[in-house]
Amino acid sequence: MNIAFIGLGNMGAPMARNLIKAGHQLNLFDLNQSVLAELAQLGGRISASPKAAAEGAELVITMLPAAAHVRSVWLGEDGVLAGIASGVPAVDCSTIDPQTAREVAAAAARQGVAMADAPVSGGTGGAQAGTLTFMVGASAELFATLQPVLAQMGRNIVHCGEVGTGQIAKICNNLLLGISMIGVSEAMALGDALGIDTQVLAGIINSSTGRCWSSDTYNPWPGVIETAPASRGYTGGFGAELMLKDLGLATEAARQAHQPVVLGAVAQQLYQAMSLRGEGGKDFSAIVNSYRKPQ
Ligand code: NAD
Repeated sequence: MNIAFIGLGNMGAPMARNLIKAGHQLNLFDLNQSVLAELAQLGGRISASPKAAAEGAELVITMLPAAAHVRSVWLGEDGVLAGIASGVPAVDCSTIDPQTAREVAAAAARQGVAMADAPVSGGTGGAQAGTLTFMVGASAELFATLQPVLAQMGRNIVHCGEVGTGQIAKICNNLLLGISMIGVSEAMALGDALGIDTQVLAGIINSSTGRCWSSDTYNPWPGVIETAPASRGYTGGFGAELMLKDLGLATEAARQAHQPVVLGAVAQQLYQAMSLRGEGGKDFSAIVNSYRKPQ
């Protein structure tokens, strides 16, 4: 299949590599020339603009940082919608607000293009290994068209509902994750300060009612879970800046829906303070350091 792939960063580049490996012909566009050159070596074709990449493509995929980039790449003068043929399916995998996802999809629909939102979880490791989870907002028909291609980049391809619902699923999950990591941090640090062995405490939590992914798989206390970023200096995981971005999307969506997100707002402020301390590049579980004396 001839696929346009736009946005070849930490996530997009390995996803595109997996599609090339699966035998697709890729039209590539990014602002970063060096990643284009690298993927061209693997057989991808470099395009001069999103419009040029979309011309002749049978599917368009984008993986961009935030809503403003998605708007400009899709709706701009040299954007995807200026080049894509009517009837060609399209999917944006960036994490953005549901409102923008719906607006861009509506603009696509006006020219006969069915567009889905399909944000991912699984991080750069999942993108490289082709084991991402895709949360897809699309009609049943579009989902059926996209599913086989997404399955070449991911393991779980979940149909969440109509367009926009993929983003809703993603931001609600990450709202809960951001909060639960702070809860586990608070409990672990209190236990330590009061004098219990943190391994014992984690063992109790993980076989009791406090158990959650942030405690039993990704515990923020160093040494509790060997494979967690906490055990390697909070490197190589899900950066606090990305968590901050997702909490911002959640609180903004909540504002628009007049829905309270009390703990989400507090969590956002705590990650914000972490960013101010210059720790935004660390894994988000380093939020535990807000509760500890400097180590
Ligand atoms: P990134 O910043 O590494 O990559 C974004 C790419 O988009 C860059 O190569 C950049 O040059 C390109 N770009 C920006 N503006 C462009 C434009 N106008 N035209 C063409 N290319 C443009 O970001 P990433 O880590 O790959 O994340 C992409 C998306 O995936 C984000 O929405 C992020 O929230 C989401 N996400 C990231 C992770 C992760 O662990 N990195 C996990 C899940 C979801």
